[in-house]
Amino acid sequence: MKFALVTGGSRGIGRAICIKLAKQGYHILINYRSNDAEAQRTAQLVEECGVTATLIKFDVSDKEAVTQQIEKWTAANPHKHIEVLVNNAGIRQDTLMIWMTDEQWQDVLGASLNGFYFVTRAVLNGMITKRYGRIVNVVSLSGVKGMPGQVNYSAAKAGVIGATKALAQEVARRNVTVNAVAPGFIKTDMTHDLKEDELKKMIPMQRFGEVDEVADVVVFLASPQASYVTGSVIHINGGLL
Ligand code: NAP
Repeated sequence: MKFALVTGGSRGIGRAICIKLAKQGYHILINYRSNDAEAQRTAQLVEECGVTATLIKFDVSDKEAVTQQIEKWTAANPHKHIEVLVNNAGIRQDTLMIWMTDEQWQDVLGASLNGFYFVTRAVLNGMITKRYGRIVNVVSLSGVKGMPGQVNYSAAKAGVIGATKALAQEVARRNVTVNAVAPGFIKTDMTHDLKEDELKKMIPMQRFGEVDEVADVVVFLASPQASYVTGSVIHINGGLL
């Protein structure tokens, strides 16, 4: 039985990734932080694809919770192997640097950068031992070019890009690949408050992206077919540079 762990799988891009990985035959571990109803909805959609869905609730920025929950699952399922990890959990807390609180800085880095570190560390050993693994990190255009009002978010995502490239080189010989996808503007709860009509004029494709357009790329990077792709950042942004 092959398993995929998707952080932030209850809603948005994470939910679309869960469903598409399920359609590839993966049993899905759906991580989320608080939204039980949306997580259960994702689980139902995953199960409709004919595989199992397991809800695994923890805050990815909480080192003890991550370690405890993943160790608990591994101990209860000694013969099951997490082949695919998608580090998708993330939050925005936008403000200009001069107004930024320590909490806004720490929360955003906690979810994306520390979350990447804690969760990846917890599953990496299993992948190395099995000599197979696919890690896909969901970063952002903000982490590539930097966005005003998003110093915290840009730093967090740029940090994950650096970590992706470094880790890819550490584990390449063990047949574990590590890649990132960098979406631009995608229609989810996270972008609900943005002025889509104005912002889309800046995008060469003149529209926001759909969650499935991100999930399809993630599923490719998570597949055996992407065997020689590692350390890459794939941009999914409708041409916005
Ligand atoms: P979303 O709709 O707001 O969903 C966020 C997901 O992350 C939810 O499942 C949420 O769980 C989970 N989450 C947040 N903080 C968490 C934590 N500390 N621990 C565990 N789970 C946590 O966001 P989205 O738009 O799908 O974004 C998904 C990823 O894509 C994020 O990393 C985001 O930065 C990135 N991204 C998004 C866009 C975009 O335009 N939407 C663009 C570039 C990059 P709950 O449901 O329990 O709250």
